[in-house]
Amino acid sequence: MSQQSEEEVAETPYRQIFRLFLPAYCADQRIQDTLEYCRRTGCRDVLLFTTSYDEEPSFKSVEEVRTYTESVLKPAARRFREAGIAVGINVMQTLGHCYFPDDKEYRKAFPFQRRITAEGKNDRGGACPMDVGLQEWVKKTYSVYAEIHADYIFVDDEFRTMLRDGMTCFCPLHLKKIEELANVEAVTIEAVAKAIWHDLDSPLRKAYFEATTQGLAKMAVIIRNTVKAVAPETRLGLMTQVFPQAATGIDYQQILKALSGDERPLVRPQISLYSEIGLHQFAAASINPSIFREVLPKNIEHYAEIENSPYGVWAKSTAMTIAQIYALLLQGFMKQAVNFCSMFMRPLDELKPLIEAQVRERPRFEALANLIPDGNAPIGVYNYAHLHELEVRQVKAPGEYHHGHALAMALPNLGIPLGTDPNSPWIMLTGDALRKATPAEIDSLLRRGALLDVPALQTLTELGFGERIGIKVERELECDEVGFEEFTGPNGLDPLLHRFTLQSFLHLNYGHWYELTATNPCQAWSVVRNFRGDLVTPGLLVRENAAGERFAVLAFTGDVSNHWMANRYRARQLRLFFEWQARTPFPVVVTEDSPYCWTIINRDKEGRLVAGIINTSSDTILNLTPQMAGCWNQITCAGELPLQQAADGSVQTKLAPLDVLLLHQKTTE
Ligand SMILES: [Zn+2]
Repeated sequence: MSQQSEEEVAETPYRQIFRLFLPAYCADQRIQDTLEYCRRTGCRDVLLFTTSYDEEPSFKSVEEVRTYTESVLKPAARRFREAGIAVGINVMQTLGHCYFPDDKEYRKAFPFQRRITAEGKNDRGGACPMDVGLQEWVKKTYSVYAEIHADYIFVDDEFRTMLRDGMTCFCPLHLKKIEELANVEAVTIEAVAKAIWHDLDSPLRKAYFEATTQGLAKMAVIIRNTVKAVAPETRLGLMTQVFPQAATGIDYQQILKALSGDERPLVRPQISLYSEIGLHQFAAASINPSIFREVLPKNIEHYAEIENSPYGVWAKSTAMTIAQIYALLLQGFMKQAVNFCSMFMRPLDELKPLIEAQVRERPRFEALANLIPDGNAPIGVYNYAHLHELEVRQVKAPGEYHHGHALAMALPNLGIPLGTDPNSPWIMLTGDALRKATPAEIDSLLRRGALLDVPALQTLTELGFGERIGIKVERELECDEVGFEEFTGPNGLDPLLHRFTLQSFLHLNYGHWYELTATNPCQAWSVVRNFRGDLVTPGLLVRENAAGERFAVLAFTGDVSNHWMANRYRARQLRLFFEWQARTPFPVVVTEDSPYCWTIINRDKEGRLVAGIINTSSDTILNLTPQMAGCWNQITCAGELPLQQAADGSVQTKLAPLDVLLLHQKTTE
């Protein structure tokens, strides 16, 4: 590789932040390996872990922290900086998040209040942020890390309620705070847990959310004050988890404010794509940071996460890792915090295939990063989300606490683009996030029409919008009433959908089906029949009101299984619905002829479309038939070339599983 091309790399908006641990027993070798990795891949940032996730417990003594910082972190930071590489510090254990041993001697050294779960059990991962002893330990250790004068210090994953063993924290310190906030006495864990899961309006529920946020926000202030006293130039960053579930009980806006002060907040959104997960889960995992970005304050700088430790717990294929890089670039995440090496003594040689693939694909990474502005939301069906939606979630059991967007997450597998641009013409409303929307927001959404799931319709009905939609949820169906779903399509005329039946007998226990009715005019685009063939309810009930707003409701919640969504007939049914609802076609969409192709659409600086079609099936696709508006180029490693399309619009291409076809619109006509 020539020196010139490396310099070009440094100027691209695509920035990889290489996270790594330097074990003291092989730090020198790993630094050399990392410098070589940076030379080959164009990486110009390292983010150094402070402890090993694999080999060390949650807490270490201040003396141990001092020793490791002096003997490893500070010399390493010097060497990386001398090579022109920026250095950040990733504090692995602040509240403890991986493993807080119960060993007697260890507990004596770290006598912090353990986090307590809603079941009243000790959490094995970490300690309570309200513990004064822990706060003192955090001050001492962060003041040591601050001496490195890093560009930024990231707090890792433990600023959340879900650690190792479920929802926290219900320790005596938290219960006391909840008593104070709710102005009640002798509060028990059972009473708070019951309020969280069964009583939306309970003051205890509200107090739990407040107490949880206050505990974490106070710790964030301590971290900020400690670091800034030593290194005013060092920024603080927070690692966030999967939205919405891991945001349970937390107001991230307050915590970010506490940690960042008046500086631009720095966030590393988690992506639960650690191992070689099922291809059907790929899109749902990869789109998560977009949804979180949409509900967080707009000025945040995001370093989206990619993990792959070939010899660690989190190993996955090179192909899936490269596809994840593309998925993030297409969603406007140009800065990516990667964790590609195990935390013990494995040489970085193990990354050879991943390094080769990055070198090969780099021209296309850079092309995307040069086209799409950092932070640009993807375009597609907009699924409304609210940062605080979990505060209003109506749930029947703890396990149901986290759902709400499951049906929308299934759309990418149907070839339907899912986006986070709130101005989208295509709208899908799910769960009860709408309880947090203002009446003006709801009006603006409904004016465009929408696809709804049952909980969204129930929520809107409670809020007084039922008549406007004109569709009613009557009751949940019994098992014997749900036999199979018969597709008809618009007016029963769609030749592909006509009389197709989706058998349901196998999946009776999943999905929660409901009986739907509507005031006229309405149409059923599919119906549910029982085993005798009697009609029980519409499966997709479609209605246009007098104002011309077009709605449809799916008769199932799908919060346990996506079987009801993941089939070609649903793909066609919903694609036709969305284009009818919005009165405009998708600018790029794959048809059901190419199932399981995830289409991600974004815009360049001039507003022209940039699209990626990722093959998330296990077939090698030779012929794609996308529907596309206007005239397009294909983005290749050799630059942009005119896209070769046959007369029927099909594209001859060879897309192996997880390969991506990249497109750039030339004209919109
Ligand atoms: Zn606690």
